[in-house]
Amino acid sequence: MKSVSKKVCLLGDFAVGKTSLVRRFVYDLFSDRYISTIGVKVSRKTVVVPAEPEVVELTIMLWDLAGSEAFDLFRASYLRGSAGALLVCDLQRAETLTHLANYVDQIRAVSPDAKFAIAANKADLDNFAVEDAALFGFAAQIDAPVYFTSAKSGEKVDTLFRHLGRLLV
Ligand code: GDP
Ligand code: MG
Repeated sequence: MKSVSKKVCLLGDFAVGKTSLVRRFVYDLFSDRYISTIGVKVSRKTVVVPAEPEVVELTIMLWDLAGSEAFDLFRASYLRGSAGALLVCDLQRAETLTHLANYVDQIRAVSPDAKFAIAANKADLDNFAVEDAALFGFAAQIDAPVYFTSAKSGEKVDTLFRHLGRLLV
């Protein structure tokens, strides 16, 4: 089986659930305690994805960046070499969706061919502030699949990462 390795960045505002989604996907764990990400953490997971002419063993290197403004100066070097990005918004905070366009611009500046997927996260909660029309309109613009995920319950997390994986091979 052919093996490939791809870098994927997690992008989205503070506390949308980026670190929690990585933890759920890689370790199948969730914690309600807030774990602040300092700088960058790289985790990896290998999945088998369909490709032509045969399946590929894909190792996804997940780069979890801190959302803090303090990292803006270093952001370009973290983003460089990304084959894709997982864009994460929090369904209870509408502005976390509108801000995703800025992250797309930043990554495209250094990785023009990057592929995207969108996690509309915290789907286990209610009182959603993100409008479906805004979410799917944005997704269509950047040609990205959307999944309503919950890092807490695990809902759609694996499906989302596998879909992004298929876009990378
Ligand atoms: P990050 O700053 O984007 O990395 O966000 P974190 O992963 O640290 O999560 C921020 C907070 O949201 C933490 O208290 C998490 O426990 C919580 N959280 C993350 N994902 C979910 C989810 O899917 N559902 C719920 N209810 N809480 C979540
Ligand atoms: Mg984090």
